[in-house]
Amino acid sequence: MRHENRRSREGRMTCYGFIGLGNMGGGMAAVLAAAGHRVQAFDLSAEALQRAVSAGAQATETAAAAVAGAEVVITMLPAGSHVRDVYEQAVLPAAARNALVIDCSTVDVDTARAVAEQAQGLGFRAADAPVSGGVAAAAAGALTFMVGCREADFAAVETALAPMAKTVVRAGEAGAGQAAKICNNMLLGVSMIGACEALSLAEGLGLDPERFFEIASASSGQCWSLTAYCPWPGPVEAAPSNRGYEGGFAVAMMLKDLKLAQGAAASVGASTPLGAQAEALYALFDRLGYGEKDFSGLIQMLRGRLDLLA
Ligand code: NAD
Repeated sequence: MRHENRRSREGRMTCYGFIGLGNMGGGMAAVLAAAGHRVQAFDLSAEALQRAVSAGAQATETAAAAVAGAEVVITMLPAGSHVRDVYEQAVLPAAARNALVIDCSTVDVDTARAVAEQAQGLGFRAADAPVSGGVAAAAAGALTFMVGCREADFAAVETALAPMAKTVVRAGEAGAGQAAKICNNMLLGVSMIGACEALSLAEGLGLDPERFFEIASASSGQCWSLTAYCPWPGPVEAAPSNRGYEGGFAVAMMLKDLKLAQGAAASVGASTPLGAQAEALYALFDRLGYGEKDFSGLIQMLRGRLDLLA
């Protein structure tokens, strides 16, 4: 119902070319189809493609066929190399030059800038628009998009993303969406480790961690990782810590973003020592076999209680 309303507000059906129908892209394409838009979909995985068809998308045999005739092209791919390949081989040669091309994958800033520059050079309107919110938000059309694009193109980007969005915010020019995403997630990774360490230390000192949670929540240590996503089970009902650290934001995803942040920091000579430490800690946690767990589960590694994550 909500999506139908969105479509009628926008006033017309749009033809989307959608490439990358995995955990995130599959949900996003389904939301677009449910809103009444035409979705020309392609994925290398026949299974992913079939799921999209069941959700109302039109399967195509190649990425080039998915973007042909589309007014908006969306890519939702694993990493920068996939985005470069798909742009070079399909989007740039096969999409109509008046199409709006938006990459929603999380990739390095350099790739985002390079593909936008190539696309704009050919006359396309282009944007990077990585998302915040996981698989559930993708399926519910409730993602936050952080957009890097020319100011003049933002209104069109916002309209194109609206059916899938809770919020669409412009961060700046091409690449700025990716920059915002990795800076935010580096801050999140670091603050979560801080919350985990403080709760573990409280426990070690004989201070009830739940009591510490109450005190810190009303003191200067307050932060989102503590008060909205508490890694200690109990205080925050909806937090993954109360569900065996299942669901939520996977360690492997956090690690990917921290690696991107470190790569970006090196490329501009920024000093991010805590970001580097965070990457090392999540890499260790991932290596121990917990890549699929929620990132707040790191507290159990710090406590020496990995047995609780089995
Ligand atoms: P995924 O691996 O589930 O999906 C990626 C899809 O791309 C797969 O179905 C794969 O077959 C397809 N693909 C790869 N190369 C292709 C090509 N050349 N042509 C067509 N299809 C191709 O990944 P995901 O979890 O959906 O994540 C997608 C992006 O979103 C990533 O960049 C990720 O970092 C980002 N992201 C993920 C989450 C999350 O919670 N999963 C949250 C925010 C951002």
